[in-house]
Amino acid sequence: MSYKFNVTRVQESSISKVDFNNLPFGKTFSDHMFVADYINGAWTNLEIRPVAPIPTHPGNMAWHYGQAIFEGMKATRDAEGHALLFRPELHAVRLNNSAKRMSMPEVPEDLFLQAIHTLVDMEKAWIPPQTGSALYIRPFMYATDETIGVKASDTYKFIIFVMPVGPYYTNPVKLLAQDKYVRAVVGGVGEAKTAGNYAASLLPSTMARKEGFDQVMWLDGVHKKYIQEVGTMNIFFVVKDEIITPNLDGAILDGITRKSMLELFKDQGYKVTERPITIDEIIEAGQSGDLVEIFGTGTAAVIAPVSHLKYKDTTIELDMAKRQISKWAYDTINGIRNRTVTDKFGWIVEAKP
Ligand SMILES: *Cc1c(COP(=O)(O)O)cnc(C)c1O
Repeated sequence: MSYKFNVTRVQESSISKVDFNNLPFGKTFSDHMFVADYINGAWTNLEIRPVAPIPTHPGNMAWHYGQAIFEGMKATRDAEGHALLFRPELHAVRLNNSAKRMSMPEVPEDLFLQAIHTLVDMEKAWIPPQTGSALYIRPFMYATDETIGVKASDTYKFIIFVMPVGPYYTNPVKLLAQDKYVRAVVGGVGEAKTAGNYAASLLPSTMARKEGFDQVMWLDGVHKKYIQEVGTMNIFFVVKDEIITPNLDGAILDGITRKSMLELFKDQGYKVTERPITIDEIIEAGQSGDLVEIFGTGTAAVIAPVSHLKYKDTTIELDMAKRQISKWAYDTINGIRNRTVTDKFGWIVEAKP
């Protein structure tokens, strides 16, 4: 099905004010956004319009009861200037999985994809050409009923805006594993890309930052022993010649970069295992010298090498000169995104209105 979008353009683009060589992550917005309203059981008012504040009633349910979900994707470009999307259909599916868990309406996959394609094509001048930079795409949905009283909202907004971004991390990442706070438990909402998971992570993250760490490495909520993930990334370890990552247990976010890297590693002939991993075994491997690399995977951070991991009184420091697998991973996934590496699985699609 093809949807009709009502398009209102900006009078003048703000692109000339942007320094594409110096892009802090998440601060620069493009000119236009996609907006749709869910009313009476259907998505209506489909429009693309200038990015601007949206007035909101104080009784807006999302503020009070937290029905808010999002996605994070990136558009890149190839040498000929085509705007490229990476596995967009998986983001459509995941948004709807988050929607189901949060008792929110689904967005038809074809509507999601048409909105992404149309908006990215319209904003393709905003895609930074530098490797490691990209146009970050943020689709999100929130409740809009003006009602106090706990129930699922009847109305919602679905919005997509895009932002040119540079690298998320410019240095290797320092992680702190702690057992006081947890991010998610099985049966909770850890699998959903919902705003509240991030709200719950802010206090422990701030505390970790005060101690000189970039992020918390989350342990499971029951035993405080099994490694889950890191802030905005899934986590991988290289122990001797094996790549290991926690299996999806129902509390871990099912990352599309994680999934793609697992497929690429296997295809390349690496030994890869998804299984429960305890913090103790990683600390021991760090002390014995068997732990070669740690890295995070996520759309925003791409592949982020880890230089330090602290747990209780032990800090493991990794030798950045020894990292090979995370380097290969970074070059491969960025290469596929810029079409300098063959896209043999057909993950890249050109953005076409
Ligand atoms: C989005 C996200 C990730 C990474 O998922 P990608 O699909 O690879 O971007 C990992 N963990 C959390 C908590 C996330 O929200």
